[in-house]
Amino acid sequence: MRMIKTFKTAVFNVKFSKRKGNIIDTQMRLAENAFYDVIERLAHHVEPLIKLNKEQRKDMLTRLKKEASQLIKPHPLSNASKSGVVADAIAQISSTVELRLTGQDAKLPTRNNRDIDTYDIGMDMLVGSLDLESQDLAKQLIYSKPYDGMPRPLLWLRTRPSDGAMLLRDGLGRYFVYINSHSSKSKFSKAKVVINDLVNVRTGETENFSSSTGLLLPIQLSKWHQSEFLAKGKPKSYRLIKKADGYILAVTFEFKAEKIEPATYLGVDRGIDKIAAFAVTSKKEVLKKDFCDGNELRDYQKECETNARKKQTKGNAKYIRWRGYTDLIMHKIANEIVNTALKYRSQVVLEDLTNIANGHHHRRARFARKTNFNKVLSRQQYQKLQHLLNYKLSYVGLPTPLFVRAAGTSITCNRCGNYDSKNRDLNERSLFLCKSCNYQDNADVNAAVTISMKGEWLTTQFDKEHKKMKNRFSDWIPLPS
Ligand SMILES: [Zn+2]
Repeated sequence: MRMIKTFKTAVFNVKFSKRKGNIIDTQMRLAENAFYDVIERLAHHVEPLIKLNKEQRKDMLTRLKKEASQLIKPHPLSNASKSGVVADAIAQISSTVELRLTGQDAKLPTRNNRDIDTYDIGMDMLVGSLDLESQDLAKQLIYSKPYDGMPRPLLWLRTRPSDGAMLLRDGLGRYFVYINSHSSKSKFSKAKVVINDLVNVRTGETENFSSSTGLLLPIQLSKWHQSEFLAKGKPKSYRLIKKADGYILAVTFEFKAEKIEPATYLGVDRGIDKIAAFAVTSKKEVLKKDFCDGNELRDYQKECETNARKKQTKGNAKYIRWRGYTDLIMHKIANEIVNTALKYRSQVVLEDLTNIANGHHHRRARFARKTNFNKVLSRQQYQKLQHLLNYKLSYVGLPTPLFVRAAGTSITCNRCGNYDSKNRDLNERSLFLCKSCNYQDNADVNAAVTISMKGEWLTTQFDKEHKKMKNRFSDWIPLPS
């Protein structure tokens, strides 16, 4: 049985005594100092790394990791913090190199170039993020340039008492996090923490140990956290983050799903008439076609526009609320697609918009309604939908989306293969009417069917030996009579 892994981060509030706060703050500052020390001593490797090929770069980073482990030794840190700082420092060097390779002007952080903005934006993103992509970005923002006056977060990657962290539960259903927080040489190591009959959330086993280098912190956990994270996933890494108004613990959970072999294809079209249309096909047969309803979104947008006109303000807060709402709708759409894909065991197929400025048929007809509704599934949002699908499909064990070229999908008839721009009515943009076989359907649905079939054509008609398609899509598509 093959498994697919996904990761998702949960954020918990942590509250503790002044004494524990003192230990943690001290560790954060020590770890931060060690981080910059390591970064500064390894900075001269960035330029050479850029010149290496991918393979060599990987080897070099492995060597740098060993070097960093040596550099960190004299620092008065807990074992966990040592490996955490090394991991952070290497990740920082690696991402700086990656950014430089894509032509961006990236620099390693220094003690002096801290930036308040990126930290706050990163924090907001981390708390609000539901997919891995935005989490990674959030983490990058947080760790690259820490908030002025706030130390860098502490990181735990292991789960042992001597050098890790663990989520624990007591008999009353209260939750705690144990962290290996300080060095055995530290003045704090005189007091011991005793873990007595607490259940390890990760393993389900009862933990009994005492430690002179750790702390036990109570965490606040909601029912939603329990059902969405603890019940389904396993804690993998922990980050303790200091904010102006307290501390939060970000725990990344690993989820495993049994891999599903797809039996059908599910094409998604970024609609113009509807927000999105989708169709399930198999062996050129259409098994299901449907729309993702955007009515709520349309109404909400109208309301926003009316309010804005009344008040003559275009406040930032309103924009954020609007963005939040569309995010919610994107999740709804993604869920609807994933549920259908699960039901039909589908390979999801999407349009590849990389080379298209703003798709062919997504342009509005000349006299169409002048609302801003076409902004709804903008290119950016379609990309957001892609990210959500990537994550949510893996989460249930389905493969990530397959991409097909968007060109022509909206003017190709999925009955007879006729490829003609006249198949789309200039005045009635939501109508698809084939000039060759008279097949008629909603234009978005027709496009979704075509995208789905294109996915099947790509996977089944590719001639590996000659490295080309066995036939043209428009030749393959006609239904056998
Ligand atoms: Zn036709």
